Amino acid sequence: MNKRKYNDEERKIRKKISSKKYRDNNKDKRHQYYLDNKDEVNKKRREDHLNNPEKYKRENKRRYKRYKYRSSIYSKKNYLKHKEEFLERSKLQRLKNPKEYTKYLKEYYINHKDSIKNKSSKWKKENRDKVNVQCQKRRSLKRGAEGSFTLEEWENLKKEFNLTCPICFKSEPEIMLTIDHIIPLSKGGSNYITNIQPLCRSCNCSKRDRIN
Ligand SMILES: [Zn+2]
Repeated sequence: MNKRKYNDEERKIRKKISSKKYRDNNKDKRHQYYLDNKDEVNKKRREDHLNNPEKYKRENKRRYKRYKYRSSIYSKKNYLKHKEEFLERSKLQRLKNPKEYTKYLKEYYINHKDSIKNKSSKWKKENRDKVNVQCQKRRSLKRGAEGSFTLEEWENLKKEFNLTCPICFKSEPEIMLTIDHIIPLSKGGSNYITNIQPLCRSCNCSKRDRIN
């Protein structure tokens, strides 16, 4: 691109019209100008874009940084406000085109593998009890055992045991309490909370299938 040289007078005008104040005060005028000369303006922009890709990259980066926080808040707010609508829409999309949807999910997973794994392992660490309760539920269903218990029941039971393993008397957070079936599922024990005790991992492992 060849740059045109401006004289002092032109430079002054250019400076004036490119100031933020001037632009803000003449928003309507600017917009009107855009509407009147839409094709020409867009054509110029496109050309400029093609000729200066680096400039636009820089510009976009700057804009992204500047609005990142604001737009994340906006999209969160917007999502919460229209949650039902969003969910309904994505559900419709899913039902309409299940193959496309699974393809999209697979692609999304491949492209975001690391961040998904990190997020999910972080969530699992933070919600360890929830995961454990769910895991025991699955195990007992697989074994055809009777009963189930809730996360709340498990948390209350841990409190009753004072967060302490009844075999080695070590407490959380020094150890990690795990769910133990007093009568093991493999011996026909149920998955009711009355058949559950909190044991630390090593005591739970050494107990195996014995009944304590
Ligand atoms: Zn123990």
